[in-house]
Amino acid sequence: MSKPTLATIALSGCEGCHVSLLDSHEGLLDVLALVDLVHSPFSGEAEIPSQVDVVMVEGAIANEEDRRRAEAARKAATIVVAVGSCAVLGGIGGLRNLSRLSDVKKAAFGADSKSSRLPVLEDRVRPVSDVILVDMSVPGCAPETGQIVEALLAAVNNTPYNPPRRNLCDECHREKRAMLEHSQEFVSDGVFALMELETIDPVICLLEQGVLCMGPMTREGCGAKCTAANVPCRGCAGPSRLEFEQGGKTIDALAAVLPAGALMYMEDLIGTGYRFSLPVSVFPTIFDHEGGDDV
Ligand code: SF4
Ligand code: SF4
Ligand code: SF4
Repeated sequence: MSKPTLATIALSGCEGCHVSLLDSHEGLLDVLALVDLVHSPFSGEAEIPSQVDVVMVEGAIANEEDRRRAEAARKAATIVVAVGSCAVLGGIGGLRNLSRLSDVKKAAFGADSKSSRLPVLEDRVRPVSDVILVDMSVPGCAPETGQIVEALLAAVNNTPYNPPRRNLCDECHREKRAMLEHSQEFVSDGVFALMELETIDPVICLLEQGVLCMGPMTREGCGAKCTAANVPCRGCAGPSRLEFEQGGKTIDALAAVLPAGALMYMEDLIGTGYRFSLPVSVFPTIFDHEGGDDV
């Protein structure tokens, strides 16, 4: 009996999600034992076959070619798996939605911004699910290798895939003390960069030490690997399924732990709270580009 076919494509992103898949090392053999890999960014052919069982899509929809390739993938595939925060949430490149398209082009390409050799950019960056039906989503920048393999195996075996639902604090090993106690006192006087602290307690919650950790507003699943390494979570997996607005939740969480006025000293609250998820927030409708591209 022939094996199911798998294709992988990379839209606007950095191909780091493909690198994460390759990082599974011998785990990749488990996938390849079950599927025929018929197309990938490393295989040389420009187009995926006209029929394939599963397509893994990395990257966001940022230009017309992304849209065309995503639509071709949907037409060809039985199951589409969006992998990585670019594909699922719009990702870090989605921060360009805060700027007018004409300004983006001028900043990136300067005098060449009107060149016909440049890709035709869409008015804003979108997650893949804005353009085609997506059957499974694995956010993360990049997602953990095991999460990608688990989703792909579920897709090729036609078995249920149960993505993580809770927030990162639920799987973080650090002790939550002040945040769990009912108190009139604020947890921290301000928000500090790691290098501003003389010592970092390796046991206590980083947010309780005044370090902005995005754990409360971020989906679990990575094993809280950053906080385990004494580094705050940057929110790369996007909002948990219980939250919608990662940035809004950031403001909400900080307002709960900081005294009034302390938030004013955060330089880039939107860039911090929406670093990976701006295109799926309410902001694209608020910051609409009146008149579109005027370059
Ligand atoms: S999600 Fe992160 S690792 Fe994956 S393509 Fe986007 S930027 Fe690269
Ligand atoms: S805020 Fe950060 S450090 Fe604190 S429990 Fe949550 S994930 Fe861990
Ligand atoms: S701890 Fe946060 S930033 Fe680090 S990998 Fe996990 S979700 Fe991403």
